[in-house]
Amino acid sequence: GGSGSPAPRTRTLALANQKGGVGKTTTAINLGTALAAVGERVLIIDLDPQGNASTGVGAEDRGVSTFDVMSGTSTLKDARFQTSVPGLTISPATIDLMAFERETGMASGRHYRLRDAIAAMVAGEDPAERTTYVLIDCPPSLNLLTVNALAAADAVLVPLQCEFFALEGLAQLLSTVEEIRGRLNPKLHIHGVVLTMYDQRTALSDQVVDDVRRVLGDKVYSTIIPRNVRVAESPSHGKPVLLYDYRCAGSQAYIKLASEVIERERRMRAA
Ligand code: ADP
Ligand code: MG
Repeated sequence: GGSGSPAPRTRTLALANQKGGVGKTTTAINLGTALAAVGERVLIIDLDPQGNASTGVGAEDRGVSTFDVMSGTSTLKDARFQTSVPGLTISPATIDLMAFERETGMASGRHYRLRDAIAAMVAGEDPAERTTYVLIDCPPSLNLLTVNALAAADAVLVPLQCEFFALEGLAQLLSTVEEIRGRLNPKLHIHGVVLTMYDQRTALSDQVVDDVRRVLGDKVYSTIIPRNVRVAESPSHGKPVLLYDYRCAGSQAYIKLASEVIERERRMRAA
């Protein structure tokens, strides 16, 4: 003590699940917005060629994108831009990210492009203005883009949809995380699993929640994201649901998730 508060650290979380449609992008946008709302400085890196996170925050094509960062022709500092949410920036994705793996081939250091880009960005920041959360929105596959995300991340946040086959494919994701930890990124761990699209009207949703909690224990966040029509509508307005309707159940759940993520960070740091 006595040395004043330390400069904030940058935490990098990869939102990953090779299944599509489970809530990765929705969680990146809305967790990012909720973190920014409590004063965090957040960067979303859209790493999915579909660019859903980019459209979801109303990003227009500015000629510079995550692809340019990955291929080394732009820095993250130049690719990121301010969204309509104070404190929330995004590095947008375009369809040309699809060509990344093919164009990169077996180039050395190909697994570390994103890690190095984030490190260079952070190194150039004024410590008092440092980005505190980088959220990487992964594509729905375990390709070289996702490997870059896992090699760059401190931890993985796994969205799981409350559906019958929720756990299917999770073993493959967990073994990929193990492999990346062994080969590329020794600090990598699972930050937590967030259950999404919970439908209170169906017994199935409760069954899924019970099963997932039994298998994954306290890795599962206590916050559950409900299925909510406002959450589904907001991307077509180019807005996070928190800007579209902050009172709806979906917005409130993402606010809770943000405080749980921050609390987990605090505990991990103290440990
Ligand atoms: P992923 O990025 O994993 O492919 P998305 O976040 O794009 O998944 O979500 C898939 C679809 O489900 C999208 O149309 C999204 O708007 C919708 N969706 C996601 N979460 C919710 C929710 N909590 N309530 C209602 N619809 C949701
Ligand atoms: Mg997505």
